[in-house]
Amino acid sequence: MRAVRRPSQLSVWSWPVGPVRLEGEWLVADLSFPRRFYQPMEQPSPVPDFAKIASPRDAIEFAERYGMRGAVPLGVREVREPISEWLREAERFRRMLRQYTLLRAAKETPEARSELLEHWWPEVRRELMDSMGELFQELYPSDLSDDRKLDLISSDLAQSVGAGFERIPLSITALEGFPGTYLYDAEIRSLRVYLYQDLARKLVAAEPLRMCADCGRYFTVGDPRQQYCSEACTNRTRRQRWVRKKKAAAAVTA
Ligand SMILES: [Zn+2]
Repeated sequence: MRAVRRPSQLSVWSWPVGPVRLEGEWLVADLSFPRRFYQPMEQPSPVPDFAKIASPRDAIEFAERYGMRGAVPLGVREVREPISEWLREAERFRRMLRQYTLLRAAKETPEARSELLEHWWPEVRRELMDSMGELFQELYPSDLSDDRKLDLISSDLAQSVGAGFERIPLSITALEGFPGTYLYDAEIRSLRVYLYQDLARKLVAAEPLRMCADCGRYFTVGDPRQQYCSEACTNRTRRQRWVRKKKAAAAVTA
């Protein structure tokens, strides 16, 4: 396993990917003869596909493409992870992406703003009260302004994403061939931590994300008019629209 360095000074380890199967409650990867090694920094972001996982079948498909979530020690022949954790974490990512897109839209879209204030705020408020106890009443009076509530929902998202950074080892290394130049490294050794880190990078870069109107996968918007994540989704929707139109026309003439 080699670490690849980018100017961002992140070392992300590559990991083996092999056939994956479901065994009862477990997702099992057979790594005795890995098909290949996945090097995350050289691939498109795994976050959109991970957030779309809604069934064991989706999880298998994802794991056969990107690998298992946990760190894989060298020489391990089989990795097992509970499928329930996969599904729970994918749901968590959907939620964080939704929270982010709503927060980004809140300035221009009144619907996004009211969804945050009506549906997200009560939950964030409850979480804050649980974690802060009496301090909450002291710090946040009951007549908080809407802008302050949005700020707290925004910081709640940062906390959720940051919670995934658990134990990323930090190190400082000297750059070879450049005496006196150093790199500050965050070593990422599992897909799970990489997913959180990659999502954090999207947030920090203020990537314009949107949910595909056809398949529900989040994608980075290039053209603001773009409603679908891929050509396949655009074509599928166009075809369905055409079929509906044809049916409607047939119903009129019948
Ligand atoms: Zn799509």
